[in-house]
Amino acid sequence: MAVPLMHAVRVGLYVLKQHLSGRKRYPLVLMLEPLFRCNLACAGCGKIDYPAEILNQRMSLQECLDADAEAGAPVIAIAGGEPLLHKEMPQIVENLTARKKYVYLCTNGLLLEKKINDYKPSPFFSWDIHLDGDKEMHDASVCQEGVYERAIKAIKLAKSKGFRVSINCTLFDGAVPERVAAFLDEAMALGVDGVMTAPGYAYERAPDQEHFLNRQKTKTLFRDIFRLGKGHKWRFTQSPLFLNFLAGNENYQCTPWGKPLRTVFGWQRPCYLLGEGYAKTFRELMEDTDWDKYGTGAYEKCADCMVHSGYEATAVMDAVRRPWHIAKVALFGPETEKPMVPEISLANQRPAEYGYDEQVQIQLANLSAANEGRPRNRGPRVRVNGRPVSVRVQKEQMTEAAGAAE
Ligand code: SF4
Repeated sequence: MAVPLMHAVRVGLYVLKQHLSGRKRYPLVLMLEPLFRCNLACAGCGKIDYPAEILNQRMSLQECLDADAEAGAPVIAIAGGEPLLHKEMPQIVENLTARKKYVYLCTNGLLLEKKINDYKPSPFFSWDIHLDGDKEMHDASVCQEGVYERAIKAIKLAKSKGFRVSINCTLFDGAVPERVAAFLDEAMALGVDGVMTAPGYAYERAPDQEHFLNRQKTKTLFRDIFRLGKGHKWRFTQSPLFLNFLAGNENYQCTPWGKPLRTVFGWQRPCYLLGEGYAKTFRELMEDTDWDKYGTGAYEKCADCMVHSGYEATAVMDAVRRPWHIAKVALFGPETEKPMVPEISLANQRPAEYGYDEQVQIQLANLSAANEGRPRNRGPRVRVNGRPVSVRVQKEQMTEAAGAAE
């Protein structure tokens, strides 16, 4: 089973409890991005071109624990950036699992061998290794040769030490169903506990804007993959109804608050994928966000989105409402032959707003204000991207990058 029975039961009971208490909006998975710094520069990533001052920010252990206490979600996914560059990551994982939260630590695997002894196997902890397909697909996706092999080595090492391991696989336009199917067979042969797959979201800051899938292509691709997978017993960490949605069989609207994101900036509005402002508290995020402004059909930036961070929660909530439906899909797999459900009309969507530069300026101003009043002697400074950065910070950065490249 891709997700342990106790995990599924706990999440199911949590959802049921929220329903029974009449709570309209609640989180299922807390997404934590305690840093944006990464040791790769993937073509489809929308998070790594911040100025160095922002890339040098970290959420502290206490801030991560406070975010968990605020949101109260049963599952926590820690992403970034590359989380293994965060010095307090072992303590963050240890404290969250001690609270009986199911923690998925998303990593590209490059630092795993070096850091693995800082972590202990636990039913509450899983490595989530980034692999966007076979060697050629993945190395092209992360724009670096040799990363696939190191990720495979990391998976084998983690499994040999008794850890739970899942694969996080994002697919882009041009993915060939037969190759993806062969990759999923290979992943199962490696003994991973499950694969989480989704189409890439068209981040406006991603260097490669040409290879994101639109909704029709996404549905066709996943139908083709699932058709090839009949009888292969692939293990996915996602709800069968989310997979059914990817194959064009569910008429879902997204649930952006289902996977709220806390970053070094605060709580991101409205969802993991779109950064259109930040709230200081989780409560403020939930109560003051104008949720009706977002979603496919409502907003241009949402037009092609079919990502799990928006729709997995919808699928899980649907499963609680229609348990017979999920049982059928779990038993027979996603439908691949009948007509797809009609697509949501985009006729009335509002046009995209582009506020990235404004957000960066706000965050830099906040940082500058926070630094006021600190001891003036901050050591020698160098200029990075035209901005002054302390030599100490710059050295730390270079050491981390060198460590990552080892
Ligand atoms: S459709 Fe929903 S989850 Fe996707 S980008 Fe828009 S608000 Fe976020």
